[in-house]
Amino acid sequence: MAARGCTRCSELAATRTTVVFGAGNADAELMFVGEAPGANEDLQGLPFVGAAGKLLEQLLGEIGLSRSEVFIANVLKCRPPGNRDPQPGEIANCRPYLERQIELIAPRVICTLGNFATKLLRGDPAGITRVHGRPEVQTVGPHTFRLYPLFHPAATLYTPSTLETLRGDFLRLPTILALPPAAPLAPAPAVEVEVVEVDPRAEQLGLF
Ligand code: URA
Repeated sequence: MAARGCTRCSELAATRTTVVFGAGNADAELMFVGEAPGANEDLQGLPFVGAAGKLLEQLLGEIGLSRSEVFIANVLKCRPPGNRDPQPGEIANCRPYLERQIELIAPRVICTLGNFATKLLRGDPAGITRVHGRPEVQTVGPHTFRLYPLFHPAATLYTPSTLETLRGDFLRLPTILALPPAAPLAPAPAVEVEVVEVDPRAEQLGLF
């Protein structure tokens, strides 16, 4: 998929330095999806290399993992000017790239970082404050995985209580990674309909 020269979002294509596709182990069991590249990421072409990235690395280290063992991507592959919020049209334009990444990497667990990734991959507008720390089974194309929503590290940099919540959720990640791979969600069971032969005489007698 030709993301490098993507021009689907004219404003982002005109203002970015590089497309930040993602980085890490392409066979990773654990994937993180953030929001969008910031200034440092845009210059270096790598996700999460600024202050939020340092914190993400530290939290990974606390559970015995390193950046090179996981895969890190974003909802948007291009930096929104001035770090403004991703726009709905931009999210829709970029979505196929993220979905293809998920299908190729096929991780067992995906941690969504913050509201944008969480809402996109859950397909639901519920905010991160409500749903963080609760794993659930989700599907993208043919791939089923456990989705584990987390606060965005950038949102916790100046709020110690939110950082402690993120750290607490992070500490449960090894347990979630140790669960058996998520099975595809079963289709709704077929409803069995019992056919009852009604004696026409009973109907005439008003018994049914
Ligand atoms: N914040 C994000 O969401 N993604 C990055 O790559 C960097 C900061």
